[in-house]
Amino acid sequence: MSRYIVVKPLLSSEPSRLQGEYVLSISRLLLIGLLALGLLIGLGSVPPAVMASAGEEPALEVKPTIEVKPVILTSIKPLTMIATAVLGDQVEIRQLLPDQEIPHHYALRVSDRRLFDQGQLVLWIGPELETFMGALVTEREPRSVITAAELSGMVWPETVERGRDYHLWLNPDNALLIARTLVLQVSELSGVNKAVLKARLQNFEDEIATLKQVVGERLLALKGNKFIVDHDAFGHFTETFGLRGAGYLRDSSGLEIGARARAKIMSQEEIRCVIAEPESRIDRLQGLATKWHAKLAIIDPLGAKAIGFEDQPEVEFSAYAGLINTVTEGFVDCLEFR
Ligand SMILES: [Zn+2]
Repeated sequence: MSRYIVVKPLLSSEPSRLQGEYVLSISRLLLIGLLALGLLIGLGSVPPAVMASAGEEPALEVKPTIEVKPVILTSIKPLTMIATAVLGDQVEIRQLLPDQEIPHHYALRVSDRRLFDQGQLVLWIGPELETFMGALVTEREPRSVITAAELSGMVWPETVERGRDYHLWLNPDNALLIARTLVLQVSELSGVNKAVLKARLQNFEDEIATLKQVVGERLLALKGNKFIVDHDAFGHFTETFGLRGAGYLRDSSGLEIGARARAKIMSQEEIRCVIAEPESRIDRLQGLATKWHAKLAIIDPLGAKAIGFEDQPEVEFSAYAGLINTVTEGFVDCLEFR
């Protein structure tokens, strides 16, 4: 069953319309020089497409080779999705954590450290979520790090009782704030086309506006339905769209709640839905769902199994929109009347 939302197509990675307003910069000249040098010494890695287009168009149209692209390091998949939407092929994006890894309890490997040193710019949520990265980040030049949780303008849910919920990408406005900050900083790096970044950001802004509207409408009728979550990771999403959870079994940092809080949750009635995550103890949650005659849904806030648009070129919206869409449909399935 197809449940794609319809959003405006993402911009192609080469908006030729923008060429007119593009001012030839020294860095671009340098780039062309490097590319020409590469061709001279018989660099085997130049893609055929570049060779072909060089024949029919002026040399200035030649795209940057992979060697000169800035490397942007992201911590987790949702940030990779946001970065990919606005930066596209202007940079090389590398992700520190494997898609399915849970950031709360991750331990750093030697290869991660090597990867970390390669990034010109690091994008992470902050030490509360990716605790394993804290020591590495403090060693870096602060200007080369974007700490999403510290951005001014970040929206936080009011319903999260204990500490803050750092799964902040689940509010599309926060994703947009991260995207804007990224574009601002990456535009300062050499080897990127600012006009392309500006156009991609505009496109992402349009997409987020549509996304919020579509998701809001989708969830409108389900606002009164009670649910509990295993891990308090959906506060940003549920508050943005007016859903109100009836409790959680593990707090936003992944720790089990106490016996008293648990008893309070267990005494609740008319729970329609129990929301688990891929790493949850499904058998235990299934038991709870059965007790309430509620439905059990598994929703991944990291989007490891979100609909992979990379493999579906005909679906033209960002992987980030796909993540929000997947979370939305998980809630709809779980909360709907049956
Ligand atoms: Zn989490």
